Amino acid sequence: MFRLRLFSLLVLLLAALPGFAASPPSPAPVALGQPLTVHFFDVGQGDAALVISPTGKTVLIDGGPPEARERLTARIKELVKGPLDMLILTHPHLDHLGGLISAVRAVGARRFMDPGFNHPSEAYRDLLDFVGDNVGQVMTPEPGPTSANGMLTIGLGDGVALTVLWPRMPKEPFLVGTRSDANSNSIVLRLTYGKTAFLLVGDAEPDTEAALLQRSLNLTATVLKVAHHGGKHSSTAAFLAASKPQAAVISVGAKNDYGHPAPETLARLADVGAHVLRTDQEGEVVAASDGQSVTLRTHAGTGALLVLTGNVDPSPVTSSPATVTPVRPGRPGAAAPPPRGETGRAPKASPEDSGTSQYVGLKGSKVFHRETCSTLKRSKSERTLYPNREAALRERRPAEDCHP
Ligand SMILES: [Zn+2]
Ligand SMILES: [Zn+2]
Repeated sequence: MFRLRLFSLLVLLLAALPGFAASPPSPAPVALGQPLTVHFFDVGQGDAALVISPTGKTVLIDGGPPEARERLTARIKELVKGPLDMLILTHPHLDHLGGLISAVRAVGARRFMDPGFNHPSEAYRDLLDFVGDNVGQVMTPEPGPTSANGMLTIGLGDGVALTVLWPRMPKEPFLVGTRSDANSNSIVLRLTYGKTAFLLVGDAEPDTEAALLQRSLNLTATVLKVAHHGGKHSSTAAFLAASKPQAAVISVGAKNDYGHPAPETLARLADVGAHVLRTDQEGEVVAASDGQSVTLRTHAGTGALLVLTGNVDPSPVTSSPATVTPVRPGRPGAAAPPPRGETGRAPKASPEDSGTSQYVGLKGSKVFHRETCSTLKRSKSERTLYPNREAALRERRPAEDCHP
């Protein structure tokens, strides 16, 4: 059993990489300057959101459906100068990945992260092939070997932190036997800045929400990106009671075939007092945080729709210690899905392997990897082999995906 005090944050040390500064989440008051901005794009029935940090770091979370490709790419070109610092695919469904290749072709991306959950679609396989060839670093949200039960936190500068709450492979298994295992293992992110927080949950299912609630995680959010386009199963009352969103953004297509957002979900959001903003009604919704409050407006409109006073604690865990119970390992009879198979990445080498491993550097990169690292499988670049870690360290620094 893991007690609260055993949680430790892994801060992904991106500072060493060009153009990416790492900083731990900080409750400290925020300096004046550029706001933290989140654009919830109008991509029809799907999700795509762009985070721009006060220091100009950019993270694209999902890429909408294929039919919104041109519109999304045009907006990315307007907003992003130079490569995206990070591209996150919350889960491998087409309404979240359809425009990613086009967006990366337009501006580039330094790193790609997705849950690593195997999914047999051609579109997903094509995306993995593409990012393997065109994105510098391909990773899953695994904390490093030194952060026993920690979470992966990505510093975006000026105290802005992006923490991955789910999934927690390999420490905890993926959720299986759920309504949709791909949805259930969506990357769930909490983006914090001062007293404000955004909870970005992909297409999380009730099982995901239950798994998060079973832990001592701080789920409070000023703004919630509503799960699964407002589908009726997600956004359970218990989850909304814990996250207490003041505003809820629903990324959804007008007159979609799924009946999203569901009236039940809208009623549950109303019950917790969340102001609902829908991309099918407002178009692109833009949220800007100065660390104290969040101002929401539409891209097309001029004035603010809402100004919300932030009152959340940026800490990723709740202040009251609670016992963490293990995740339900799946319904009886449900077969555990394989980690991404031949179309995906190999399992990470354990630290124990390192005595016998070779280490590999890729031409054009300043880092080295374990020879088992999936990034290597995805790259056609020329390789340099090192017989041991010390030799590799003389010329390069450890990669952040496999922590050699
Ligand atoms: Zn989905
Ligand atoms: Zn979706």
